Amino acid sequence: MNTTEKFIVQMPKVELHVHLEGSVQPQTLLKLAKRHNVVLPADDIEGLRKWYTFRDFDHFIDIYMAISGCLRAAEDIELIAREFLIGQAEQNIRYSEVTFTPYNQYATSGLGFHEQIDAVNRAREWGEKELGARMGIIMDIPRHIPAKEGGLIAKWAIERYGDGVIAFGLGGPEHGNPPKKFQSAFNQVRAAGIPCILHAGETVGPSSIWEAIEVADTQRIGHGVRAVEDSKLMDYLRDKQIPLEVCPTSNICLKVFPSLSEHSLPQLLGHGLYITINSDDPPMFNTTLTHEYLVGQKTWHWSHDLIQQLVLNAVDVTLLPEHEKIDMRRNFEMEFESLKR
Ligand SMILES: [Zn+2]
Repeated sequence: MNTTEKFIVQMPKVELHVHLEGSVQPQTLLKLAKRHNVVLPADDIEGLRKWYTFRDFDHFIDIYMAISGCLRAAEDIELIAREFLIGQAEQNIRYSEVTFTPYNQYATSGLGFHEQIDAVNRAREWGEKELGARMGIIMDIPRHIPAKEGGLIAKWAIERYGDGVIAFGLGGPEHGNPPKKFQSAFNQVRAAGIPCILHAGETVGPSSIWEAIEVADTQRIGHGVRAVEDSKLMDYLRDKQIPLEVCPTSNICLKVFPSLSEHSLPQLLGHGLYITINSDDPPMFNTTLTHEYLVGQKTWHWSHDLIQQLVLNAVDVTLLPEHEKIDMRRNFEMEFESLKR
């Protein structure tokens, strides 16, 4: 390992775009499937890895729903949240804003919403105390569901805002499910003062990003990597410094770009957009946040300074209170310096 790689492994980090259900480790998934008599297309780790080789976004959603079908009790949710935090702590990720989709579990097995949030909160408190790894929940709408169900999820978010829930999101298959489908849900949560953070510009191009801004005043953009297709949008995102949550390996696995060398990230950075680096659904894409930084360094020869800047970019646009962000930034800067010595 060279010095930059060592620095990446050891440096303190923040992650803004990572899914709780998409972070289930394959061995845990097998255990949960067995516990609940759920038949998966594979019954060993190697088979799951093969099943995880995505053909397209729809295949990915099928897998995602199968995972959600194995989460049938509050203790399952608590288990995966604890394991998630252990994985974050191992990478020195001090704080994560984690997307969680309780509606899927509610719809597939009737698992109550409050029970699910309580379970995540138990893990959250444990992780903060025992591991020094904190997290907040971005509760999202899986966009393939009927529009009226968005209202139910908005109601849930409002009930638990400030009690684990920190923001409201939109994920799932973009095609045929534009942000405006859930306009009324976004109106409800925004009236309650809850920030919105939407996925956009991943499988659908610039129009979805424009709409996420228009419909929900999205605070950050989940992915947004297809902004490069619209020069006006590129200028707008640069001028407003709306943060993009870029997940390079995810984009290759889901065929948003054919290869890393064709990824838009260098153009986004070159145009002065606000970039953060994230892992999305790490075990599903055989990655971690640490690995994403290593990939960036290897593919695009990122300098030490740029790597640090990308980490601090994430710190500065978390939803933490301002004074906590300032403290975290200061601590990270000091740690960067001592790691370089
Ligand atoms: Zn995502």
